[in-house]
Amino acid sequence: MTSARKQRLIDLDHRRLWHPFTQMQGWSAEDPLIVSGGEGNELIDIDGRRYLDGVSSLWCNVHGHRHPKIDQAVRDQLGRIAHSTLLGLAQDTSIEFADALVRRLPDGLSRIFYSDNGSTAAEVAIKMAYSYHRLRGRKNRNKYITFEGAYHGDTLGSVSVGAIELFHEQFRPLLFPTHQLPYPFVRRAPWTKADEPDPKALMAEVERRVAEIAPDAVAIVIEPLIQGAAGMKTAPAGFLKLLRDLADEHGLLLIADEVATGFGRTGTMFACEQEGVTPDLLAMAKGISGGYLPIAATAATEEVYDAFLGAYEEFKTFFHGHTYTGNALACAAGLASLEVFDEEGTLDALSGKIERFTQGLAAVAELPHVAGIRQAGVMIGIELVADTATGEGYAPRRRVGHQVCMKARERDVIIRPLSDVIILNPPLSITPSQIDHLLETVHWSIEQITQGRDQDQGDDAP
Ligand code: PLP
Repeated sequence: MTSARKQRLIDLDHRRLWHPFTQMQGWSAEDPLIVSGGEGNELIDIDGRRYLDGVSSLWCNVHGHRHPKIDQAVRDQLGRIAHSTLLGLAQDTSIEFADALVRRLPDGLSRIFYSDNGSTAAEVAIKMAYSYHRLRGRKNRNKYITFEGAYHGDTLGSVSVGAIELFHEQFRPLLFPTHQLPYPFVRRAPWTKADEPDPKALMAEVERRVAEIAPDAVAIVIEPLIQGAAGMKTAPAGFLKLLRDLADEHGLLLIADEVATGFGRTGTMFACEQEGVTPDLLAMAKGISGGYLPIAATAATEEVYDAFLGAYEEFKTFFHGHTYTGNALACAAGLASLEVFDEEGTLDALSGKIERFTQGLAAVAELPHVAGIRQAGVMIGIELVADTATGEGYAPRRRVGHQVCMKARERDVIIRPLSDVIILNPPLSITPSQIDHLLETVHWSIEQITQGRDQDQGDDAP
């Protein structure tokens, strides 16, 4: 039975909210799951029912919900101050947090510029890179090198360097032009044509194109190891290193967007470590506060930072900043989260969990409508198609990915797809038995929707 409070909240949600990336027409036709609590790796709905948080609240929760140490750190900070500005003032917790971040970042990244979310962290990197070249007298450099399928957030600068047709094309007239290169991902699926370029050939193509377009280019912008929002598309080993080398060769900056990959998601603290790469600028958000509070940062090398130094009247200042830059509560959460990494040996425990996922996913890969599985650490994409022999996808109106995720709720698992790619990206604190439950549920849900009696019920079917 629906309580009066729950019904009131549902009505208010339908009347007052506009949910992100959501077709509100369909949304308002259904009762939303209302979360009112969380504990460990579980979300608790308003009726007290518990669900495994299989996408870590949009890829950001790291050590679980209501972690005692992070909770306490936020409470302690609240006892001092919630927020004061970094414009014209310094603030103790944000200083400590910047130092703790630098100590964990790839060697050579030494300056932290705070902002509020992943889009602004990318936007800051974009603007810094442009100004860096101008300040060094290279005023002709004004184009960014980006990749098909890239996603760097939803503000207009970060949309400009993005390349997901569904999200970005409608805004194209508002965006600055970029050099868009092929991304060296090739589906290894039954329908892959023999003459389809292999990743090595695509990497060679990237190398050739960068040489051509480098003279007016500012920076190469990349999601290291894996493109998240494109549907978890992995890059071949050595691609990031190749981009570092190309950037060096042609005098470009390398911007690594680690908003999704940072803070352990790919098995190391930062994905760049896996190829021994230090980018010139590194954007982080999501897991930076353990998934507690909105904060982001863009890390820069001293070389980039130095370009902005000068007498006041030279106006070399980086003219960018947000009201809540370096928010003390969020920095306290972030600082505590980094300490939890050390105290709980989070990264050491992770390799066994990643392996458990890899092994468990083998059974999912056998399902008839699974076209391919991609994995980098705990970032996992399971691509569903109508016909694996031809590669034909499902009609969008069927919303098969969405249906699979709704099915999983029947077994107390929350996941969210990207079109018909089922995404798994749990908190790093997920336990072995929770991994098994997540995989069994996903297997069952895919089976039910793609083979079972729910097969022909499109979302808009009666
Ligand atoms: N960059 C990458 C690689 C992302 O995956 C995302 C979000 O998913 C963003 C940037 C944008 O982050 P936010 O949603 O915090 O603005």
